[in-house]
Amino acid sequence: MSSELINSFKTGPDESGRFGTFGGRFVSETLMPLILDLETEYEKTKTDQAFWDEMNHLWTHYVGRPSPLYFAERLTDRLGGAKIYMKRDELNHTGAHKINNVLGQIILARRMGKSRIIAETGAGQHGVATATVCAKFGLQCVVYMGAHDVERQKPNVFRMKLLGAEVVPVTSGRGTLKDAMNDALRDWVTYVRDTFYCIGTVAGPHPYPAMVRDFQSIIGKEARAQMMEAEGRLPDTVIAAIGGGSNAMGLFHPFLDDRGVRIIGVEAGGKGVDDRMEHCASLTGGRPGVLHGNRTYLLQDDDGQILEGFSISAGLDYPGIGPEHSWLHETGRAEYVSVTDQEALEAFQLSCETEGIIPALEPSHALAHVAKIAPGLPTDHVICMNMCGRGDKDIFTVAKALDWTMTESD
Ligand SMILES: *Cc1c(COP(=O)(O)O)cnc(C)c1O
Repeated sequence: MSSELINSFKTGPDESGRFGTFGGRFVSETLMPLILDLETEYEKTKTDQAFWDEMNHLWTHYVGRPSPLYFAERLTDRLGGAKIYMKRDELNHTGAHKINNVLGQIILARRMGKSRIIAETGAGQHGVATATVCAKFGLQCVVYMGAHDVERQKPNVFRMKLLGAEVVPVTSGRGTLKDAMNDALRDWVTYVRDTFYCIGTVAGPHPYPAMVRDFQSIIGKEARAQMMEAEGRLPDTVIAAIGGGSNAMGLFHPFLDDRGVRIIGVEAGGKGVDDRMEHCASLTGGRPGVLHGNRTYLLQDDDGQILEGFSISAGLDYPGIGPEHSWLHETGRAEYVSVTDQEALEAFQLSCETEGIIPALEPSHALAHVAKIAPGLPTDHVICMNMCGRGDKDIFTVAKALDWTMTESD
C-alpha cells in the first residue's frame, strides 16, 4: 500500500504481529507457548500504570533520562546549512540506548516471576546492559556471544563478568551474532519455566519487535517535546543509524504520523554496497526472507543462505533489520540509505573536533549522512539525529583504522 492510503503508521503490528507482509511469528511448536505467554503478559503490562511508574522512576534515577537534546552549533557552522540537533542517548548509564529496552523487559520478567535472564549479544553492548540490570535486581544472567565476537570484544566480555554474568561463547555456524541468537532461542525452550529471553533489538518473533520499539520510543517522545521547547515546532528531518533498528525505531515512531517530518535510516555500507557483500545494508542490499522468527529484509545469497555482514562497527553487523523498518521502507514512509566505513570514520572525527563528543561508530554513520545532506539544505531546516552511543568502546578500532599507534607514555 502506498503511504497516502494509510491513515496511521502507528497502529501496527496486527494481531499476528505483521507490519504489512513483514514480521509475524515463525517459530517451532515448542517455542510457541512461550511466545504466546509473553504476548499475553506484555499486553496486560503495557496498560498498567504501576509498570510505567516503575520504568519512569528507573529511567530518571538509574539511567539518567531524559537525555538532553543538544544544538550542535559548531558542527552546524562547519557544515553550513541545516541546523543540527543531537539527541544525547550516549549519556545514558552504560553508554548507549540499549538500557532503555533492557529495563522494560527485565521489569516484565520480574512481574512474570522469572529469575533467570538470557540474552544474545554481538558487540557486547546489549550483553553489558542486560548484565547491568540483572546485577541491579539480583537476577541470574547468561549471555550468548559468538566465539568470534568474544575474541574481538574483550573489554565488554570482562565488563559482563564483573557484573556477575555468565558469558557463553557460541561456536555453531560462524560464531557471530546470528548464531548467538539461535542458541539463546534454544536455551529458552530448554529452560522454559524460570527463563526470560531479553532480545536487544526490534527483531525476533512477535511481540518482540513491537515491545522493544515501545520501550525505545522514549527517545522519540522526549525528542518531540524537547524540539517543541527549543524551536517551537517539529524537526524537518530525523536521522538514526540502523543495526537491527531499535534506536532508529525508538526515535522514528512518535513522528510517523507527522507527514511533514522526513525520516531517514542509515545502514552500514561497510566497504560499499555491491555484490562483494562486504556491508550490512539489509534494506538497500538485501531481500525478504525469514530469520529469527520474523519475515524481513535479509542479507542472503541466491540460495537463501544468510550472509554475514561486514562493518567497521560491530554493533551494526546484524544480517537482518526489524520488520517494521521493512514495512516503512516498502510504504515509502521512511527512507533508507547507507554510508561506508570511511565516511563513518570521517564523521567520527568531525564530531570529536567540532563538538567535543566522541561518538560510537554506529551513530557516526547517522552523522555521516547528516554531513552529506546538511550543506545543501536551508539554514532554517532542522535536523535531529540520534547520538545513540558513546565511542569509548571504539577508540582502538578507530586508532587502527587511522593508523595511529598508541604510545605507552603519557
Ligand atoms: C547496538 C547498537 C546499535 C545497533 O542496534 P539498533 O537496534 O539498530 O539500535 C547502534 N548503536 C549503538 C550505540 C549500539 O550499541
